Amino acid sequence: MELRGIGVSPGVAVGQALVVEREAVPVFRLLLAPEAVEGEVQRLTRAVEASQKQLLAIKERLAREVGGRHAYIFDAHLLMLEDPLLLDRAVTVIREDHVNAEWALRTVAEQLHALFDEFTDAYLRERSTDLDDVLGRIQINLGGAADSPSLSRLPGSFVLVTEDLTPSEAAELDWERILAVAMDAGSPTHHTAILARSFGIPAVAGLQDATRRVPPGSLIVVDGTAGRLVVEPTAPTLEGFRAVQQRHRQEEERLQATSALPAVTRDGVRVRLQANAEFPDEADTALLYGAEGIGLFRSEYLLGRAREWPDEKRQLDVYRRLVELMRPHTVTVRTWDVGSEDLAPGGPTSPNPALGERSLRLLRRAPDAFRVQLRALLQASAHGALRIMFPFVAGPADLAEARGLFEEVRQELRREGLPFDERVPIGVTVEVPSAALTADLLARGADFFSVGTNDLIQYLLAVDRTDPRVSAHYQPLHPAVLRAVRATVEAAGRAGIPLSVCGEMAAEPATALVLVGLGVTELSMSPAAIPRVKAALRGALAAHLKEVAEACLGLPTAAEIEARLRGELADVLAARPVFQAE
Ligand code: PEP
Ligand code: MG
Repeated sequence: MELRGIGVSPGVAVGQALVVEREAVPVFRLLLAPEAVEGEVQRLTRAVEASQKQLLAIKERLAREVGGRHAYIFDAHLLMLEDPLLLDRAVTVIREDHVNAEWALRTVAEQLHALFDEFTDAYLRERSTDLDDVLGRIQINLGGAADSPSLSRLPGSFVLVTEDLTPSEAAELDWERILAVAMDAGSPTHHTAILARSFGIPAVAGLQDATRRVPPGSLIVVDGTAGRLVVEPTAPTLEGFRAVQQRHRQEEERLQATSALPAVTRDGVRVRLQANAEFPDEADTALLYGAEGIGLFRSEYLLGRAREWPDEKRQLDVYRRLVELMRPHTVTVRTWDVGSEDLAPGGPTSPNPALGERSLRLLRRAPDAFRVQLRALLQASAHGALRIMFPFVAGPADLAEARGLFEEVRQELRREGLPFDERVPIGVTVEVPSAALTADLLARGADFFSVGTNDLIQYLLAVDRTDPRVSAHYQPLHPAVLRAVRATVEAAGRAGIPLSVCGEMAAEPATALVLVGLGVTELSMSPAAIPRVKAALRGALAAHLKEVAEACLGLPTAAEIEARLRGELADVLAARPVFQAE
């Protein structure tokens, strides 16, 4: 079986599929060694016992606080826990199929749901929600045990097959054991795709129903260059993929050898190439690929699965480690770019999260979260070159509000006698069209700009960056995008403040060259993208790039702009499409 999607991180990987189902907790299937089976049965029994204890405690508390009348619901839950239909069956599945307890429970849940669906009595049918409640509790208790497999403690290497990953799930994932990622959702600028590129792991997005169609544990191949996923390949197919994999590795090694070379055009224009990072450990990868600093640290990955704001000390440790590792280079940390759902997990989300209560818009509701982050960031600035960047700024009023809080925090630290860099630069991510249009005004209150083209394109062109169905409309080379970048570059130039581009446009050689033609001299991207962009730059003439960009600004469609680019820059660009959309 072959599935087609969008190649979002190049390379080929072959491995066993780890299919993640999104339930109360992610559930996946593992094949157990025969000697591990009885231990697994015990793990399940312990989780059921823990669930019983918790339910009894809840029942007693409820009886105390609101009277016995309401506590009866928990009797039903307790009865379910004792029902042989549930536990005995799950134990049988573990023993017969040699699978982990989580998967066995899920299998039994499916059987029981089918049974409930057959009831004609509506009351009885509705009891299936009680069943979910009870099963969810056991699943959570299974996850809590120190010896349980989890996404952060995988017992082998796998190809991850998932609908999508939230930043907090991604933060927990045992990336060293992930060979490749296959996603139902997504597109090249989806955060999981960006992450896969950061780790240099092949990835395919937009597969739509891979989580349903790929059998857990099956052997699969992910080709992140061509956007293909093959289940149980034949021997000749596998051989073909192995050859492609080998060529890709050789090419990577060749490119990595350029890490010490400067990013300079043939006519001497120096471009600073920095890395985007989500985790502090990526600093090493960034340096390996020759990054001259971290141009964007996406701090929201620190929230973790519990979605709790990390305290000041934990954040200070992370930011401090980052600036120390990257010394003498600069680290640019972006303040929280999260949605309201991250404030109240499970609570109501915005009807349209991309346009909702996001990033700085949460400042009024959660000022302490921002205050703590700014306190940690300012203190980290005493240990190395750090810049603070506010995302999702829609205009000067947003910036003024964020700066107001920053000023309060500075005074607080001064009063407390805590050291920090008094001149720590404050910048704006230009990613909302209104920010690009008011760039001249924003430049008065900002020390630097970083253009976030991922969101800028999404909002300028009204295209959801995560929806594979509209990925053909997501056009980095749309004339509106080039004009918005150009206007922002000019405003920064007139105000004399530095500007970089940190969106994925910086990471593709073709679009990176246009950006340089538009006057951009700092680019920040996934570390693994640096060598290719550098190679393209070293082969190009800045004066020519300027001419080409000027010509592109006068063309009416993305297709014509791309054709012109490819024609003019054929010698420095490999013949690959701009983003590997279909
Ligand atoms: C962007 O929007 O271009 C950006 C760099 O930030 P993110 O991808 O995290 O939204
Ligand atoms: Mg953004």
